[in-house]
Amino acid sequence: MMNQLNYLNYKERLESLLENPLLKEYGIKKYTIGKTNYAYDFDYLTVGYGEKDIFLVGGTHGSEVISTDFILQLLSSLPTLEHFDPNVFTLKIIPLQNPEGYDISTATFSSIDFLNFEDKAYEYYLRYRADNIIYTAIQELVRVTFEVPNDIMEDVLQRLKNFTLHNEKWLRLKQNRVFPKIDEFNHAIQEIEDISSKEELCGELIMHLKQIENRLNLSSVQDKMYFFFLNALEEVFIQMLMERKRKIVFPKLYQDMFKEHGFHGLQSKELEKDIESIYKIYHHPLGSQINFDANGSGVNLNANHLHSIGMEAYQKHEVFYGLSPKDNIQKYVPGPIGTSCLNYHNFTYAVENIFLENLIKESFYQGRYEMTFLYHSSGGMIYYKPYQDLMKKEAYFDFYQYNQTLAEIYERSTNYQILEESSTTGYGDYLRRTYPGVLLIELSKMGGNPLGPYGDKSNTIRVFEENNAAINEVFHYLKKKKRKIKRKDNNA
Ligand SMILES: [Zn+2]
Repeated sequence: MMNQLNYLNYKERLESLLENPLLKEYGIKKYTIGKTNYAYDFDYLTVGYGEKDIFLVGGTHGSEVISTDFILQLLSSLPTLEHFDPNVFTLKIIPLQNPEGYDISTATFSSIDFLNFEDKAYEYYLRYRADNIIYTAIQELVRVTFEVPNDIMEDVLQRLKNFTLHNEKWLRLKQNRVFPKIDEFNHAIQEIEDISSKEELCGELIMHLKQIENRLNLSSVQDKMYFFFLNALEEVFIQMLMERKRKIVFPKLYQDMFKEHGFHGLQSKELEKDIESIYKIYHHPLGSQINFDANGSGVNLNANHLHSIGMEAYQKHEVFYGLSPKDNIQKYVPGPIGTSCLNYHNFTYAVENIFLENLIKESFYQGRYEMTFLYHSSGGMIYYKPYQDLMKKEAYFDFYQYNQTLAEIYERSTNYQILEESSTTGYGDYLRRTYPGVLLIELSKMGGNPLGPYGDKSNTIRVFEENNAAINEVFHYLKKKKRKIKRKDNNA
């Protein structure tokens, strides 16, 4: 059996929700209100007959599959939520705002079969985390021990010995469950004596690394991670032997898992071709398509805004990379992280964002609109605060109070962190300045999209249960709430 998370399965789940007898009683309907650039359906569902509209949006970023999964699951759980009243509410649902990015990410892991899914997802989770820890630690080792003006060999060796015993970033490896065996290497280093040249030291270190590698059992995930780490270290020492001065770039463990996969298996053959050429043009690392957040044209729907720093970066011809572990992927160009728009001289909104805002706008002007949940995938956080400087004072105050109330209700069931920061840069931030009650929820505390949140079944169950409970409490609050914010002149 194939794994359950892919575009076709998503479509099947939508259809089966339409056949659910209880949801039928609630008047569930599905509309295809438009097509994306590569002719994927833009699906839109409504549930309920009430006059209070609540928007639920998932899958804005292609690799955040748990956000779509969560919304589909919420729909089938709706009849169990005490405070959902179909005569009071109409849920307006976009379960997958970015079907193209979703198809690219999920097709990349299509070879993982259902029986191994949780194990592989856990391995992916470990790799994704390990990438961060490994590179921080190795960078630090090179910086502290080798890149120092004093290169008297006795001192280099002493610095190395001290580093492996006392450096905080190095010791963090040991605290992480991936690298309990790092002590072997630390110990080997303490034994090294009488070194006369850097070449000799590097040679000796490589020899020790190889000895440890030979003793590993590569069928265990932990040992395999450790093997990658030792390999990365070896790579550093080899490059030092060869006196290469350029920045050391390692392959990423999580990308490595999928670098053989290619770009096939998508619903759109045209998209397959175009993605492949985007990868060639911008030198994106193979395997990084597992984490494809942008839409098929390479536009990141949340960065699709005039205030995005990508706009400025482009004007200055600067090259930017993602944050670790995406620090080998160029951003603000078409690709897996994505750009703010395709033509920087003539900013336009992506169709996926236009579809979404039109629905919200219509509801708002009809006086039905209550709030919007924008679901993203990892961190366990709630963004609620609109960006004050771009808003009229009174509008800001109304929005702030309302959003804060909603965020606090949500936090009680999820324990998610309520973030006090606000920003101008994202499309979600734009919506939050323009319409009241826009909360952006980062779901799973277990990160590493798309597979990381699925590495432990209890994590997925917890995400669903806690967020169902939080939404139920929001229903409870909104059912009784009278006053609506009808301000239309909120942008300063
Ligand atoms: Zn996101």
